Amino acid sequence: MTQSYVIIGDGVAGSSAAETLREEEPDADITIVTDEGEALYNRILIKEFAKGKLPEAPISIHDPEWYDERDIDLKMNTLVTDVDPEGHTIETHEGETLSWDKLLVSVGGTPTQLPVDNSDAEGVHHFWTFQDARKIRSHMEEADSSVVVGAGLLGIDLAAITAAQGVEGKYLMRGNCWWRYALSREGGEIIHEALRERNVEPVFDSGVDHFEVDENNEVTTAVDPNGDEYDADFVGIAIGLDFNTEILQGTDIEVDNGVVVDEYMRTNHDDVFAAGDITQFHDVILGERAQNGAWGSAKEQGTIAAKNMVDYESEEFRWVSSYSITHFDFPFLSFGHPTLGDDEAEAKHSDTEWRRLAFKDGKICGGVLIGDLAPQSKYKKLMREERVVADQKDVLMQEQFDIDDLDLEEAPAE
Ligand SMILES: Cc1cc2nc3c(=O)[nH]c(=O)nc-3n(C[C@H](O)[C@H](O)[C@H](O)COP(=O)(O)OP(=O)(O)OC[C@H]3O[C@@H](n4cnc5c(N)ncnc54)[C@H](O)[C@@H]3O)c2cc1C
Repeated sequence: MTQSYVIIGDGVAGSSAAETLREEEPDADITIVTDEGEALYNRILIKEFAKGKLPEAPISIHDPEWYDERDIDLKMNTLVTDVDPEGHTIETHEGETLSWDKLLVSVGGTPTQLPVDNSDAEGVHHFWTFQDARKIRSHMEEADSSVVVGAGLLGIDLAAITAAQGVEGKYLMRGNCWWRYALSREGGEIIHEALRERNVEPVFDSGVDHFEVDENNEVTTAVDPNGDEYDADFVGIAIGLDFNTEILQGTDIEVDNGVVVDEYMRTNHDDVFAAGDITQFHDVILGERAQNGAWGSAKEQGTIAAKNMVDYESEEFRWVSSYSITHFDFPFLSFGHPTLGDDEAEAKHSDTEWRRLAFKDGKICGGVLIGDLAPQSKYKKLMREERVVADQKDVLMQEQFDIDDLDLEEAPAE
């Protein structure tokens, strides 16, 4: 009997799942439903578009023909409003009901709104979609002053966009360091200095108490909790994601700040799977539940989910996630879960070379490398193989670190 698969979301997780499903099951019915008005594009590259450094065309990954050629039914501009796991159906905003044998929920998240006065004013931007990037780019081209809020991986993209567009800016942070859960002040200072060189000034122990607006409801000023005021005719906010789980409300599918899945990407319902940013997955390396917000991880989860939708338990998700930043003259990479762990080690080797590893139960669980990415594959290998190495921090932190210099137990069997 022909199987029918419905995928909600045409991000990299949903799209890679559809591609894998078609490879695994040439005769299956496959439908993707997305509320966006364009097929899969490269979300990582929309920041380069917003900077004015890339035109639209290279951002696109699939055109509608890609789906036609694979006999995948792509429904664009269609919001899924309800999921009925027992009836094996979903409903769209137009009242259409679609049936499925297996469902993939790959709906990602929506940027969190800042809960302060006037955060919905004109000129206040969030950043997730290509449409957001178009608005940011066109507004930036007219802006004279900017404020960015959110000291994480997306906030720094917004700060880099203001820098690239030549708009003087303030980057308001709550603590005393950018991405303070993953970097120490010493590592963070390399990033702060690179921002200052680009006319973006980090402001510490700050944030936003409220925005002031003019008579047209356009933002003019950000006022921080200390009462300090910053001119801003452009504001970028990146304080996190709210996961798009509302379509599962009222079902018995387990949701906990994301959709809970096992290492095969299956929810607590046998025929419902989830993949990408939305998942709270069982991380087999960490030995606990985890969440990733990275392109490569979402793509791999889509592929793994599809394989297990066809043949459950055929392949587990075992992955060390990476996220790199390319805004500065030096490279930056974070991997694994650098904000977790019960132990750490860090070292600075030059003004622009710093690294930090996080350990859990003696094993590497994540890290950040600035300036010199050479050791990344070695650290990731040790993490993937779950080697206990925290007792050899001096070796791990050596500038020319080599795995052979570690005193290791026999390699685990592949
Ligand atoms: C500006 C920016 C820069 C980034 N840079 C990097 C980077 O450098 N490196 C990196 O690894 N990662 C980066 N990321 C993160 C990475 O892009 C995400 O982790 C990845 O795209 C997640 O893919 P996904 O398929 O899980 O979700 P998404 O790409 O969010 O796709 C989910 C899709 O589902 C749709 N949807 C939601 N609800 C519904 C509904 N009810 N009905 C129908 N459709 C729905 C959404 O509109 C969306 O199209 C960046 C993200 C952004 C926004």
